[in-house]
Amino acid sequence: MSAPIAKPCRLAHRLRVFGDVQGVGFRPYVKRLADELGVSGCVGNDRDGVYIELEGDAARIDVLLRRLPREVPCPARIETMEVQPIQCSERVGFSIESTQASAGARRARIPRDRGLCAACRREIHDSHDRRHRYPFTSCVVCGPRYTVLARMPYERAGTVMTQFPMCSRCSGEFQNPTDRRHHAEVMACAACGPEVSFQSLCDSKASVGEEAIRFAVDALIQGQIVALKGIGGFQLLVRADDSEAVAGLRARKQRPSKPLAVMVRSLDEASQHVHLGSAESEALACAENPIVLLPRRSESTIALEVSPHLNHIGVLLPTTPLHSLLLENLPFPVVATSCNRGEEPILGEEATSKDIADLADAVLDHNRPILRRLDDSVVRLIDGRKSVIRLARGYAPLPLTNLERWVGRKGEAPGGGLIALGGQQKNAVALWTGAQAVLGPHIGDLEGNRTFAAWRDHLLELSKLYGTEPRVMIADAHPDYAATRWAEDSGLPVEKVFHHHAHAAAAMVEHDLLDRPVLALTWDGTGLGPGGVLWGGECLRATLTDFERISTLRPIPLPGGDAAIREPWRIAAALIWESFGNVRGFPSSNISAKQIQGVVRLLETGVQCPRASSLGRLFDGFACLILGANTVTYEGEAAAWLEAIADPTVQEAYPIAVEKIAGVLVWDWRPTVKALIADQGSSASSRAARFHNSIADWARTVAIAYPDEDVVCSGGCFQNALLTQRVCHALESIGKRVGRPGLIPVNDGGLAAGQLAIALGRWAKNR
Ligand SMILES: [Zn+2]
Ligand SMILES: [Zn+2]
Repeated sequence: MSAPIAKPCRLAHRLRVFGDVQGVGFRPYVKRLADELGVSGCVGNDRDGVYIELEGDAARIDVLLRRLPREVPCPARIETMEVQPIQCSERVGFSIESTQASAGARRARIPRDRGLCAACRREIHDSHDRRHRYPFTSCVVCGPRYTVLARMPYERAGTVMTQFPMCSRCSGEFQNPTDRRHHAEVMACAACGPEVSFQSLCDSKASVGEEAIRFAVDALIQGQIVALKGIGGFQLLVRADDSEAVAGLRARKQRPSKPLAVMVRSLDEASQHVHLGSAESEALACAENPIVLLPRRSESTIALEVSPHLNHIGVLLPTTPLHSLLLENLPFPVVATSCNRGEEPILGEEATSKDIADLADAVLDHNRPILRRLDDSVVRLIDGRKSVIRLARGYAPLPLTNLERWVGRKGEAPGGGLIALGGQQKNAVALWTGAQAVLGPHIGDLEGNRTFAAWRDHLLELSKLYGTEPRVMIADAHPDYAATRWAEDSGLPVEKVFHHHAHAAAAMVEHDLLDRPVLALTWDGTGLGPGGVLWGGECLRATLTDFERISTLRPIPLPGGDAAIREPWRIAAALIWESFGNVRGFPSSNISAKQIQGVVRLLETGVQCPRASSLGRLFDGFACLILGANTVTYEGEAAAWLEAIADPTVQEAYPIAVEKIAGVLVWDWRPTVKALIADQGSSASSRAARFHNSIADWARTVAIAYPDEDVVCSGGCFQNALLTQRVCHALESIGKRVGRPGLIPVNDGGLAAGQLAIALGRWAKNR
């Protein structure tokens, strides 16, 4: 190479850009900017993110470096950028380079699936557009990503779209720097892309393309259940305004009362059924496209069977063009729930026609494979702030950037292959790859064989996608959890973490409080604490490596063990028995004297009557005493009813007694139970609210005793918006800073993030 004639004003730089920069239209953005400023060079994806080479006039490069981070188009996001001077080489023009996959992804973020964008939505509804009514329309900012990605870096060749060679028009758009589909890796059109098909499972009706969507519309109007292949798996759709159709879906899905999500055509249609403010509309319309829990309007035509006993409905906007085209022709919203039975995993590519025929009357299928199964995400707004309840499509895998930065501050990072296995329910795993910490998507409850098998496959696939080999397992201390048992059998080293410590650490990651002790309110159903004791309503003073229980509940007897979880009346009877020494005050509608005698026997003898300091169980007991919620079909159901009925204008609370026993502040709930029983004259709404307020009083009492620490909220009880508000307001009113629920789920879906942080904390301490 001949040496260039150096001009004093000419410069060359090499940039490394880290963050959400693949699969989000970042390279075309850089090229547009470079072309506009007349800067030469190239941009490409690599193992770590994006590299950029810039060459040209020094002043112009300077402008580019300033504008680049400032004008990044959503959903791209720069976390860090490194700039290094390089040798000038007199290059001309600016190009996007495609990259060969290399072994192992290191710092590159896995792109997440994006809901249909506004521009693509306009195109599919525009009769003059060449993608009019094409159900797989996507662009640089929208479409499937994680669910179709076999390997990093994110390029068409590494996705399932490699089996659909682009037609000449698509490839023209792909290569044209001024087109909005320049380097849109998964784009297609009707001439070259996937195709939709319809098959009735009741008769021989079948079709493809446009007619397939029409047939599905007809089936839904008739009240049939249609299985639709979505972005991360099959969904079951049925008209949401038809009680009988919804009940039929519940029977086939074996899901008696857990709420179902509803898909609406537009924000306008949503506003007919739920109350929408600006935060709510924004949450619905964001690129992550989650299910948002929203307060129901009394005039909504959505069947009550969709969310029995609750005052909110989970609503989402169309995820894909296929959903949008389908809903456009329906005069009602549809239930859109994962296609599975009970707590089994969502059905994906492996679904057999029998699996689907058991659940649906027809199937709206297509030939774009789903590589990774993924449920819809669920979020709730608490005081206008997003709190993720199920981390899945759009949000997962979630980079734990606070944890990564914390590890970075500790010097040389530990090697990869740390896998945190999560808990037993709402399982999700987390990885440390050597350069990244990520929380994986919601998988489900690990009790069933099918879910467990799906979980194991997912764990290995996720590690592979991130280019890391499992080396150390981090598991919950509970010896009977399926994940813990699997870890013990793996032959790899296993680190144990206590359940509530993991909850606390997850919140410390969320709020970047990794270097100092926090006061963690870890409130949930049950988890194993030290000494083989069942915990569940704990206030901990915690660091990443240590924790001390500073407050708890008087342990609640659980007559019949697990049966008490399904039958809250047993707990209600136990609360009465403990408070009064007998069960004469038990409001026993629908429970026979014989059943009550059976429970009293367990209470008297202590046989089959474990005790747990569980706030979740205290909620169950109070829900039964206030509402007669004698039995439940899913964990947290009784508490959800109690929240739904509580009158938020009521500010009074029942008395609480907090006493220091062996150095621990113990909330004795017996005076609270007695006050509730004495208050039978008040409405259920007031009583429910007073119970919530009593819990906030407990939190305040504890916080006053520990004035120095910031507070974090974690554990499944904080899915309850009213409880979270009351607790946060009570603490903030005494000047406490409170880390509220955020992106990392407060329920067991966030446990793995905490487990991983604790393992990294131990590494930092022992180094
Ligand atoms: Zn788009
Ligand atoms: Zn095409």
